[in-house]
Amino acid sequence: NGFQQYKLSPEITDALERLHYTTPTEVQEKVLPVALEEKDIIVKSQTGSGKTAAFGIPLCELVEWKENKPQALVLTPTRELAAQVQEDITNIGRLKRIKAVAVYGKQPFHRQKLELKQKTHIVVGTPGRVLDHLEKGTLTVDALRYLIIDEADEMLNMGFIEQVEAIINKLPSQRTTMLFSATLPPDIKSLSDRYMDHPERVEI
Ligand code: AMP
Repeated sequence: NGFQQYKLSPEITDALERLHYTTPTEVQEKVLPVALEEKDIIVKSQTGSGKTAAFGIPLCELVEWKENKPQALVLTPTRELAAQVQEDITNIGRLKRIKAVAVYGKQPFHRQKLELKQKTHIVVGTPGRVLDHLEKGTLTVDALRYLIIDEADEMLNMGFIEQVEAIINKLPSQRTTMLFSATLPPDIKSLSDRYMDHPERVEI
């Protein structure tokens, strides 16, 4: 199995085998070593490249099962993507019993609030609803160590950048930040300059 080189825990490699992920894709090959060392990274890549697992695998590996508070936050531009990422992470983390919760608009806030009260390792959501939970105190971030900004250019196109910044400003500054984007326009560069620590750059 091509994932063996990364010295992942057996729960993760077994889950990858079950998913028939035998060979890392190019984006996974480039991102995994950096992400597993908890370094900031900017990744220019398209959807369909295997980018979800490129951050999903390191997140599932790095989060501690015993911690009850959320340790990772994944921001996505759309509800559909949030649901897809939550499902992919659940599959990758299944044997480690990783709990990933999706929070997005047009879904009852109250049910999400109850879900977030239970043990949650990874939260995946759209900026508006995530900010809502942060402001209402229903999403705790004091144990948060990983932030993923997925499809950052779409986030910009949809006018979510201010909300993304407002969210980042509420997170612990001691964290690893990974940004994925198909294009890197100046506003995304400026965001990464302000909120990331000497990020490595990877282009697929
Ligand atoms: P994504 O770019 O994250 O939307 O992934 C595209 C598709 O590739 C998804 O259906 C994944 O399940 C699949 N995939 C991701 N990584 C691998 C891998 N290493 N081997 C085989 N399929 C993969």
